[in-house]
Amino acid sequence: MTLSKTDYILYRECPKNAWMKIHKPDIYYATELSEFEKHIIETGNEVELVARQLFPSGVLIEGRDEKARLDTLDLVAKKGQTIFQPIFVKDGFLAAVDVLKYDPENDGYQIYEIKATNEVDEKVHLYDLAFQVALLHKCGVRVTGINLLHLNKEYVRNGELDIIKLFSIDEVSEVIADMISVVWDEMNIALKYLSSENEPNGPCCCVYKGRSGHCSTFKHNNPHIPEYSVHDLNRIGSSKKKLMELIDSNVFHIHEADGRIVFSESQQNQIDAHVNDRVLIKKDMIAEEFSKLEYPLYFLDYETFPSAVPLFDGYSSYNQIPFQYSLQVVQTPNAEPQSFDFIYTESDDPCPALAKSLQSHIGPKGSVIVWYKPFEKSRNTEMGIRLPEYKIFFEGINERIFDLMEIFSKQYYVHKEFKGSSSIKKVLPVLVPELSYKELLIKEGGTASQAWKKIVDGKYSKDEATELINALKIYCNLDTYAMYAIFKRLVDII
Ligand code: SF4
Repeated sequence: MTLSKTDYILYRECPKNAWMKIHKPDIYYATELSEFEKHIIETGNEVELVARQLFPSGVLIEGRDEKARLDTLDLVAKKGQTIFQPIFVKDGFLAAVDVLKYDPENDGYQIYEIKATNEVDEKVHLYDLAFQVALLHKCGVRVTGINLLHLNKEYVRNGELDIIKLFSIDEVSEVIADMISVVWDEMNIALKYLSSENEPNGPCCCVYKGRSGHCSTFKHNNPHIPEYSVHDLNRIGSSKKKLMELIDSNVFHIHEADGRIVFSESQQNQIDAHVNDRVLIKKDMIAEEFSKLEYPLYFLDYETFPSAVPLFDGYSSYNQIPFQYSLQVVQTPNAEPQSFDFIYTESDDPCPALAKSLQSHIGPKGSVIVWYKPFEKSRNTEMGIRLPEYKIFFEGINERIFDLMEIFSKQYYVHKEFKGSSSIKKVLPVLVPELSYKELLIKEGGTASQAWKKIVDGKYSKDEATELINALKIYCNLDTYAMYAIFKRLVDII
């Protein structure tokens, strides 16, 4: 087999998981990539294309085959050329280098690894580079400089995109030089391990991590652990000692955990709800929270896109672009909600039009109800900074904001079907089962975000774009209508 740097990095995270990817891809890839994971891949490609503009004379090597390898050798031997994605293969290893730039002063090549991140992740990025450099040495390429090219979080766009300021270049030649021999040895150990046809056995150390820390092969590797297990207890991943105690006592089922150790209030409530099949409702606490509300009520939700490359003035890398909102306005306790929505699909900054539209529907009085207020508050603050004429308006919203999710995160209402979560996607089917996201074309924020970007970039036909814009409106509208319906249901209960 040939070991790529991607699989080497995966091996460093978990040898067993890397083995599964290579030998049992049907299991490894059984879980579809989340929208978030797809977005990371697309963003990486997009940033790489932009970064290549720093090397205007670069030549791209297409593909990963033998021809690509020979074309690489040819160009490297000629010297003088900057090469994108040259392919190096030797001794069972393969690496594609993002940018290889000829360095005439030292008669060698400078390597640039492009990362679509604001920070350097030393555990990954340096090993990624060390793999490439170790292989280039074996291929007889003289490496005269090693660089990490990543996004510069300090850069704020103002006018034309400034490619030079958009990126930071960290020269890491010395650090990598010190790592080469250790990494080369590790590469050979990894190659031997991953070449074996025998499936690795032995326990998975991830049994000591919460559910979000498990890889796609966890179920295959740990068939004795139930679908809903102690790994799903609220925030158990941050209580390592507790989880270890349970696992080391062979306690996997939630109902077996009861009474074993001291749990947090939310964990104990989750266990109680599951074991006793009972609903916990603190009516007085909910009533106290709701007594803070002032009519009219505005149920508000934004949809946003976090662009790695700032698209408009005033934005830095990964700043969220609010492109859509939905609003339900309830004037008095017994009134029906009035629904408003806004979506911007032109190619300039949506915020001025969004702010103008929102201001026409949200008056100076009344509570603004959201689900997870840190998100909406941050967007309001950022819009207030970028649009000073709306600063007071957005500050006013933030002063009147009410987080409906806190009714659930503060444990005033606990149901076994929430499974320790206070996500609206878990709460809605329990409190308002007649409303559902299941049949929608767009069901969650990540897909909404990607759909908007592709509409704006003109990736769809007119009809497809119209259908998706409609789907975006239905999705965002359900987010706010669901909040209203949950609120109403709670009012009825208390
Ligand atoms: S569950 Fe964890 S230890 Fe097991 S294969 Fe996956 S990443 Fe590795």
